[in-house]
Amino acid sequence: MKHNGRFGQFGGFYVPEVLIPALEEIEQAFDRFHNDPQFVADLNNLYANYAGRPTPLYYAKRYSEYVGFQVYIKREDLLHGGAHKINNTLGQGLLAQYMGKKKLIAETGAGQHGLATATVGALFGMETKIFMGAIDVERQNLNVHKMKLLGAEVIPVRGGTCTLKDAINDALRYWTSHVDDTFYLFGTAGGPHPYPTIVKHFQTPIGIEARQQCLNQLGKLPDVVVACVGGGSNAIGIFNSFIPDNTVQLIGVEGGGRGISTGHHCATLCVGTVGVLHGARTYLLQDQNGQIHETECISAGLDYPGVGPEHSHLKDIGRARYVHVSDEQVLDAFFELTRLEGILPALESAHALAWISEQKGKYPRETVVVVNLSGRGDKDIGIVEQHRPLNR
Ligand SMILES: *Cc1c(COP(=O)(O)O)cnc(C)c1O
Repeated sequence: MKHNGRFGQFGGFYVPEVLIPALEEIEQAFDRFHNDPQFVADLNNLYANYAGRPTPLYYAKRYSEYVGFQVYIKREDLLHGGAHKINNTLGQGLLAQYMGKKKLIAETGAGQHGLATATVGALFGMETKIFMGAIDVERQNLNVHKMKLLGAEVIPVRGGTCTLKDAINDALRYWTSHVDDTFYLFGTAGGPHPYPTIVKHFQTPIGIEARQQCLNQLGKLPDVVVACVGGGSNAIGIFNSFIPDNTVQLIGVEGGGRGISTGHHCATLCVGTVGVLHGARTYLLQDQNGQIHETECISAGLDYPGVGPEHSHLKDIGRARYVHVSDEQVLDAFFELTRLEGILPALESAHALAWISEQKGKYPRETVVVVNLSGRGDKDIGIVEQHRPLNR
């Protein structure tokens, strides 16, 4: 391959030999098209007129009063599909079109990436197969139904623990025998090179817009930028534009679940160790023998035992700080934003908000914090109701 796909000691492409030509083909196509004027015009048209970019940067006045400093919300929840995921699937879907591929495959855990891929499959008229753990198919039947409505085939995966990591393994396995006509549309800024670079690129409009919106609205950069981290795509999308600005603190928030000591969590960067998973060297939740731990936290979208390699690097060089919050804090934050601002956040995004609420009264009044609201909470109302039923 032309680039080694390394972020310090992390990243790379630890995949079976047969996949190297397929990854090389995507790397070459990305190198060729991502700055091509026609590709950029096509993608910007889709971002603006299909997905709804640019998204607003909203000053949350009542939430700011509550925490005691200034909070600005980047509204990715307002995009088509209700989350940032469409930025990536439009970008990779268009790349697949430019490469002349006829079919898409993707993995999904909670179903959000599967849904965003099925959406572009319909948009571009491409045959779409979604690999999904059999347990997740059961748990997420509304998303499975939506994917089918959009014309995608949902393939239940029955290996291992029947969840996301097994769905990725099966999608990679299927791809090895269908590389000629099939594009693997990967869902987060992880996996083998070139995916971490490609997914970051297609998510960077978040940070480019947020940085300019801060300059326009405030005349200065923020002090802190916060995002939740599952695989790390929405976080790297907003962080990337601020990395050169050393005065801006970058905070990635992971799922602390029921507490780190209970073992029920998804805090890969906070407590993981270095290893190789799904083609990349990165921090992982694993035991001494390299067996992957089951993850568990309140938001299915953060439930992944690995993390994008660039975050591992940003952690090691100290440019970003990674923290965790508990399920209870996340539920509190869900209600705080809902009641103070009239915005129902996705439980993933509520992790970033929970960290902000934890800083209540700890920053000077004039401190400016930008939070990436990666998605809307409609999909999570059932889970919230289970944990915190409304009085009837
Ligand atoms: C999938 C998802 C996430 C987690 O994925 P990242 O790649 O870490 O961004 C976060 N928020 C929402 C709303 C999601 O759907």
